Amino acid sequence: MTVNPATTSVPHWSPEPAPDPGGARRIVLAAGQAGDFALGPDGSVPEVVFAAAVTGDRFVLIGNAAQLARARADLLAAGAIPAEITEVLTGAPDLHAAQPRTVYCPHCHTGSTGSVAIGGAVSCAGCGLELVVYHHYSQRLGAFLGYCADAEER
Ligand SMILES: [Zn+2]
Repeated sequence: MTVNPATTSVPHWSPEPAPDPGGARRIVLAAGQAGDFALGPDGSVPEVVFAAAVTGDRFVLIGNAAQLARARADLLAAGAIPAEITEVLTGAPDLHAAQPRTVYCPHCHTGSTGSVAIGGAVSCAGCGLELVVYHHYSQRLGAFLGYCADAEER
């Protein structure tokens, strides 16, 4: 089955930050030591950011796909809106190629992270099922939907 990438919910992350004409304060959250604050290894946003941020701040996230997904989900859960978040992807420029991703298991509701391509497979950390990474991405969960490829044969 061929899927048109332009019609999926796969994020269109860029290696370059988009300009922000609003002139609001930018808080840079980066994997590693660069930036105003360091993201956690899984991309989690440290609590100190929520204490420092005020309404109208903009967030620039720098990291791999899994880190961007987790950081975005944390910011959205804390009340940020998508227009306040800019993401800069490090790593593979092909968004469909193998790279760190979080995959949501609909069977046990667990997120599993692995370096996998869309259409590839990852083992669920919760229930152990082999999940195929689908072209559906949830911004709220920061994860791609996984499905059990041989569910009918079980
Ligand atoms: Zn599972």
